[in-house]
Amino acid sequence: MSAADVFRQRYGTEPAGLWAAPGRVNLIGEHTDYNEGYVLPFALPQRTIAAVGPAPAGEWTVCSTFADEPVSFGVTEPGEVSGWAGYVAGIVWSLRDAGFEVPGARIAIDSDVPLGSGLSSSAALESSVLTALIDLGGLDVPLERRPALAQRAENVYVGAPTGILDQSASIRCQEGRALFLDCRTYEIDQIPFDLAAEGLAILVINSNAPHQHVDGEYGARRKSCEEAAHILGVPALRDVTPDDLAEALAKLDDDVMRRRVRHIVTEDQRVLDTVELLRAGRTRDIGPLLTASHASMRDDFEITVPQVDIAVESALAAGAYGARMTGGGFGGCVLALIDTARADETVAAVEAAYAEATFTAPTCWIATAGPGATRL
Ligand code: ADP
Ligand code: MG
Repeated sequence: MSAADVFRQRYGTEPAGLWAAPGRVNLIGEHTDYNEGYVLPFALPQRTIAAVGPAPAGEWTVCSTFADEPVSFGVTEPGEVSGWAGYVAGIVWSLRDAGFEVPGARIAIDSDVPLGSGLSSSAALESSVLTALIDLGGLDVPLERRPALAQRAENVYVGAPTGILDQSASIRCQEGRALFLDCRTYEIDQIPFDLAAEGLAILVINSNAPHQHVDGEYGARRKSCEEAAHILGVPALRDVTPDDLAEALAKLDDDVMRRRVRHIVTEDQRVLDTVELLRAGRTRDIGPLLTASHASMRDDFEITVPQVDIAVESALAAGAYGARMTGGGFGGCVLALIDTARADETVAAVEAAYAEATFTAPTCWIATAGPGATRL
């Protein structure tokens, strides 16, 4: 059932409008966002739709095709609404906390972004609701402020310590472009990313591996990076350049910390190199950077699992120009840069490798760069 149908059925009236916000894949730049570095996501055609209509002031109700019961809440403080509706209550709280008068609303959610697969269904949910409430209330919130407002909902209200990447992608991406984002200054640049014109495609492979220990491991990586920056006397690891790397590593006693730093510093440079190649129209040449990024995540940052490593290896063996895990890690998705004509062969190769390893079968599809959050 569509979000509009759910709205009609649940609330017995027509919604005032429909708002959509996409999931995303990150082409390159993993765990660099909270180190104030660079990322390069693009929006997926998969998106979350919020059908929204007015309600009395101070009252909000939300239902989702992914949940049995609607959830109603008034003005709340962080954490008061738990579970999936917390992302929605978090958006209301974040806007109010920033001084905006948020209109009461009834909300119905539907989505074709896979939940919990590293494609950022949480940011798609936040961004669809944020955009809807801003439009419905006629609030004056410039586009550049919106990602940070959605991020606060997730960080402060839900309590998930994620960076600015997901919300920026869902809100600011454009069709046929990848979003080059500087996570320190929030400056963005829209990089041409129309692969079809070159006979190329990004194949996304959802490993369907069960996520394990994600929150704890994420927190540990983040802490390690922050401690390293402190020891090195820089505001964030973004301030260590590849030229400074050897000297920086020599100042760190802990081998694990050294490898974490090496991933972040080299990954930032790989994002910059990828952007330069894309700007020069040399899309195929980004392949080795993608594969190097994967090796760095596997060996130095240690955030991959066998399912994603096998997906990368089998895609490369089938002729992909490059492949890497995308997203925070410990499961999730892999992306591979391939010739469009070789999509079926590549998928068959990955599926065969999974079958041989007796892993749950992966889900594969071709991803094109879609638009960011918008009213439909
Ligand atoms: P990801 O963002 O990678 O998909 P997260 O764990 O960050 O994974 O967010 C997934 C959570 O977001 C879900 O468990 C659920 O609480 C919430 N969520 C996302 N989309 C929806 C939706 N359409 N309906 C209800 N809850 C959703
Ligand atoms: Mg998320």
